[in-house]
Amino acid sequence: MVKRKYYQEEIETMPVEQIKKLQSEKLVKQVKHVYKNVPYYRDLMDKKGVTPDDIHGIEDLYKLPFIEKSDLRETYPTGMLAVPLEDCVRIQSTSGTTGRRVIAYYTQHDIDLWDECCARALVAAGADKEDVVQVSYGYGLFTGGPGLNGGSHKVGCLTLPMSSGNTERQIQFMTDLKATVLCCTPSYAAYLGESLKEQGYTAETIPLKAGIFGAEPWTQEMRENIQNTLGIKAYDIYGLTEISGPGVSFECSEQGGMHINEDHFLAEIINPDTGEPLPEGEKGELVFTCLDKEAFPLLRYRTRDICVLSRKPCSCGRTHIRMAKPMGRSDDMMIIRGVNVFPSQIEAVLLKEGFSENYLIKLGRENNNDTFDVYVELPPEQFDDSVKNVTAKEKSLAAALRTMLGIGPAVHLVPPKTIQRSEGKAKRVIDERKLHD
Ligand code: ADP
Ligand code: ZN
Repeated sequence: MVKRKYYQEEIETMPVEQIKKLQSEKLVKQVKHVYKNVPYYRDLMDKKGVTPDDIHGIEDLYKLPFIEKSDLRETYPTGMLAVPLEDCVRIQSTSGTTGRRVIAYYTQHDIDLWDECCARALVAAGADKEDVVQVSYGYGLFTGGPGLNGGSHKVGCLTLPMSSGNTERQIQFMTDLKATVLCCTPSYAAYLGESLKEQGYTAETIPLKAGIFGAEPWTQEMRENIQNTLGIKAYDIYGLTEISGPGVSFECSEQGGMHINEDHFLAEIINPDTGEPLPEGEKGELVFTCLDKEAFPLLRYRTRDICVLSRKPCSCGRTHIRMAKPMGRSDDMMIIRGVNVFPSQIEAVLLKEGFSENYLIKLGRENNNDTFDVYVELPPEQFDDSVKNVTAKEKSLAAALRTMLGIGPAVHLVPPKTIQRSEGKAKRVIDERKLHD
């Protein structure tokens, strides 16, 4: 049997001009739908002096008001609904990484659309009917499990709805049922890899061939570690509950940015300070407009994720625009002694220096000054080192971090397995400064 390259070839390889035309048609209709059915957004439009008659295509997008997370909190729980509640078949909710949870609603049409996006991601990672897909994202309110589960069904794969946690059972099912594709957060993939290795499995004896990892930022270094340990190709997948869930964009075999499902989601990059749209190729905040969702169709939703878009043709044949890996959202950014620091920068240095992704950043305040501590596990083979050796390593790692960040943390090397592993989204920063303000 010849493997399929695309899940929906016609749409995924549609010429760019045609995609833009399709987006324009859908946008005009969607704005009318929202204006008519969501009083909150109608008010925002009225305040800006814009009506659906002003929107003739994607070139008019900039006229529309933004929606931010605060709007979703204000309209909680049903104020952004654009259809009667009785037409909805499901809710999902954000993981609440950065505050109060948000609820998103779906009609059956919205679920099908989302599942199709995940199916595109699975096929791009090489999955087909004969594959066994182990879904180890959490199931429930979190979108990770249900999204990849739906996509896997659409492709016709045998789906293992493992959910996250219970690592013993994950390994047993993976090896007994010969799972070929693993879907989970990158931090859980790393943990599963570590556990498989401890049980004597090697890259050659682990049945997996591909992994689809997302829901949190991860570095290129981490990708390489996971690929080597599990003996797979690791694909990135991006999404957020407000826009549907995982599968808003996904990586192809090029592993060079994620194709955004542009027939459903219209992407912009804006200057986060002024709200001005930025030209392609510039770094800024990612904004999405849902083009054909029915129940929860957000227009110009500010994700707070910082990244870059590219229209450069891709060798996979897909024509949809690509977004770079977002290396953290604007609210992940820590300001330490006045310097902007992203956890992903720290992770990149640690992995480059031969340490693992098991680390914890602690921020505090002492004598009106920020304290900045990084806890990192010693690799098991270095655990027996003398105190002198460990101190020297702490110093050299602190120096490497200072070079990268511009400020130096206090580094603490701790015994292997003493930093808590994550089964879902990893929590790597403890900021105690807010408590002391
Ligand atoms: P929460 O905001 O509570 O974490 P979600 O579970 O919907 O809610 O998470 C969506 C967010 O997760 C995105 O806005 C983004 O910051 C992050 N994210 C999702 N996928 C990726 C990815 N592949 N790389 C980096 N960050 C990601
Ligand atoms: Zn591609």
